[in-house]
Amino acid sequence: MITHILFIVIALTSFSFLGIAFSKIFRIAKMLKKPYSLSNVGQRLKVFFSVAILQKKIMRLPILGFMHSLVFWGFLMITFGSLEMLIDGFAGFPFNANASDDRILSFLGPVYTFIIAGGDISAAIILLAVLVFLFRRLFMNIKRFTGQEMRHKDHKDANIALLFILFLMISLLGMNAGYVAFAEKTNTVAQGAYPISQMFASLLSGMSEHSIHLFEISNWWAHIILIFLFANYLPKSKHFHVFMSLPNVYLSRTEPLTKMNNLESVKAEVELMMNPDAPEPEFDENAEPERFGMKDVTDGTWKNYVDSLTCTQCGRCTSVCPANLTGKKLSPRKVVLDYRRRMEEITQPLLKEGKSYDDGKSLLGDYTTPEELWACTTCNACAQECPVNIDQPSMILDLRRFIFMEESAAPSLLNSMSTNIENNGAPWQYPAADRFNWAKDLKSAESEEIKVPLMSNLAAENKTPEYLFWVGSASSYDDRAKKITQSFVKILDHAKVDFAVLGAEESDSGEVAKRTGNEFLFQMQAAQNIEIMNAYGIKKIVTCDPHEFNTLKNEYPDLGGQYQVIHHTELIAQLTSQGKLKTQSKKFAGKRITFHDPCYLGRGNGVYDAPRKAIENTGGIFTETAKNKSKSLCCGAGGGQLFKEAEPGNQEVYELRTEGLLETKPEIIAAACPLCTLMLTDGLKMKEKEKEVKVLDIAELTAQNLDL
Ligand code: SF4
Ligand code: SF4
Repeated sequence: MITHILFIVIALTSFSFLGIAFSKIFRIAKMLKKPYSLSNVGQRLKVFFSVAILQKKIMRLPILGFMHSLVFWGFLMITFGSLEMLIDGFAGFPFNANASDDRILSFLGPVYTFIIAGGDISAAIILLAVLVFLFRRLFMNIKRFTGQEMRHKDHKDANIALLFILFLMISLLGMNAGYVAFAEKTNTVAQGAYPISQMFASLLSGMSEHSIHLFEISNWWAHIILIFLFANYLPKSKHFHVFMSLPNVYLSRTEPLTKMNNLESVKAEVELMMNPDAPEPEFDENAEPERFGMKDVTDGTWKNYVDSLTCTQCGRCTSVCPANLTGKKLSPRKVVLDYRRRMEEITQPLLKEGKSYDDGKSLLGDYTTPEELWACTTCNACAQECPVNIDQPSMILDLRRFIFMEESAAPSLLNSMSTNIENNGAPWQYPAADRFNWAKDLKSAESEEIKVPLMSNLAAENKTPEYLFWVGSASSYDDRAKKITQSFVKILDHAKVDFAVLGAEESDSGEVAKRTGNEFLFQMQAAQNIEIMNAYGIKKIVTCDPHEFNTLKNEYPDLGGQYQVIHHTELIAQLTSQGKLKTQSKKFAGKRITFHDPCYLGRGNGVYDAPRKAIENTGGIFTETAKNKSKSLCCGAGGGQLFKEAEPGNQEVYELRTEGLLETKPEIIAAACPLCTLMLTDGLKMKEKEKEVKVLDIAELTAQNLDL
C-alpha cells in the first residue's frame, strides 16, 4: 500500500514538473508569430511517415543512420512497455503480492507478445548502440561534434543523456530477466515474450523466489524512476528531440526548400504602391508596429522556437555548409542554438512581463553576428540534411531582412546592387535598354539571322506564344552567361518552339534582392513583372537560370503570378524525347564529362534527370562527382554572394566546389545555371585548369552537339 502511494506521488510530481515545463513552452509559443498554414494534412502525414517514421533523412549517413534508426524504432516499441508500466503502477499491480506479475495489456494476445518481444530485443540493440555512441563521443575526435557553438556543457549534456538511456536499458532488461526467472521459479506463465532477457533469466535461477522477485521489483523501480527523471531532464537538454522531433517533422514546411516566404507586411504596402486605389490595410493603433525581419527571438515564429527546441546538435547541417567548410564563421547549427539559448535567457522575464520585455540585448548582434549571416549562400544544404526538418535558411533570411530593411546595414556592395535594380532593373549599372543586346547578330546553323521574337510584337499581332523565355539579369548582361542564352535560343529556333522574350520590358526578378533581405524591392520587382506578364496572358515560362526558375515557379504565385515554369534542361529533355533535337555530332563522344547540380534546380526543386539525359545524348563519358544531386556542394554564387566580397575564411566556395569536380578528371564540367558557370569558370582559373577543362552549360553542350 505504502509503495503504491509512493509510486502515485512520484508519478504525479513528475507529471506536474513536466506539465509546467510544457506549459511554459506553449505560453512562449503563443507569443510568437504564425509561420504558415498547417492545412495540408495529407502532405504533412506523408512527410511525417517518410522523415519521422521511416527515418529517411537520417539514413543519408547509411551506417550511423541505420544505428540511429534502430534506436528510434526500438524506443517506439519500448514506449508501449513503459506506458503499460505506468498503468500497472497506478493499478498497483507491481506492489500487490498476488498480482505483482500481472500485465494489464496482456489481453492483446499475439500483438502484445510481438510488441513486448520487440521491446526486449530493442533494449539490447539500444544498449549496444548507446555504447558505440558513447565511445564515439568520448574517445573519437568527430569533427561534427565540435565547433564554436559546442560548449563543454553541451558535450556533458549529451553524455548524461546517453548514460540515462544506457541505465534505462539495463534496468529494463534486468526487470524482464527477473520477470521471466520468477515465472520459471513459480511454474507460472510469463506474459509476452523475452528473447533476450530469457537468456539472462537462467543466471538468476539459483536465487530464491523472494530474491528473484526483489531483483525484478528493484529493476522495475529503477526503470520507472529513470523514466521520470529522464523525462524531466529532457526539456533542459539537447535530447529534448526525444519529445519534439515527431511533432516538429509533422509541422515542418512542405514547400520546396528554396521557396522563401513573401512577407505579408510588405505585401500590403507594395499593393498600395502599385495600386493607390487599393483599400488601405487596417492598422491597430494600439498594436506595436511589426518589425520587418527578426532582430530578437520574439520577432520569430513559433516554428523557429520549436525548431530550436528540437535541434539534436548532431551537426549534420554544419558539416555540409559550404560557408563553414571554407572556414567562414557561419554554422547553421549555431544559428539554431543561438535562438534556443537567447530564448532560454529571456523565458522567465517574457513569461512575467510579456513580449515587450527588453533587456537591451538581442539575438542579432549578441548571439548571431552579421558576419555569420552574410556568409550564407542560401543553398539549403543544411535544411536538406537536417534529420528533424529544421529550417535554418528561413531564420537566416529573417535576420538578414532586419539588417537590410530596418537597419539599412547590409554590406555596401549589396546596397549598390539594390540601387541598381531600383534604377535600371538589373543588379549592375547597365541601362535597361541594353537588356536585349544579347539577341543581336544571332545566327542559325545555316548562317541565317535568328530574329528573337518579342512579346510586344506578337501581342500587336494578337498572338500569344506557347512559352515566354525568361532570360533573367545575369543571362542578359554578363558576357559569359549571354552565350548560354544564345545557345538556348538556337535550340528553340532549331526545334521550332513557339516562344518570345520580353526584351527590354523584362526587369530583374528581385530574386537576389529577396535573398539578401530586401523583401520590399523583391516584391516591387515581382509586382512589376507580374503585371507585364499577366497583361500578355503568359501561361508557360522557360528559363535557363535556376534562381529565376525557383522564384517564378515558387515565389511569384503568392503575388498573383501563376505560371507553369520549367527549366531549360527540362524543355531540352522534352524536345529530345519528341525527336526534335536529333542531329548529333561526334564532338563530345568519348569526352569525360561531369555535372554540377545547381542547388536551386536540384535540391530546391528536384530536377536531377533532365540535365543528365542531355549529357547522355552527347555520347560523352559521364562521371558523377562525389557530391551530387541533393548532396551537391554549392558553387558559392547564391544568396547574394555573387554581388559582394566573400566573408573572411580560408577558401572561396567556388574553389572548393571546383576541386571536388576536378576529382573526376573531367574534360568538361557541365552546368545548368549561368551563375554556376561563372563561378566554376573562375574556379578553373584559380586552379590553372582553364586550358584543359571547360565549363559548359547544358544549353551549350546541346547546341554544340547539334552543330548549331
Ligand atoms: S543555406 Fe547553405 S550556406 Fe546557408 S547555412 Fe545552410 S548550408 Fe550554409
Ligand atoms: S539543425 Fe538539424 S542538422 Fe543541424 S544540428 Fe540541429 S538537428 Fe542537426
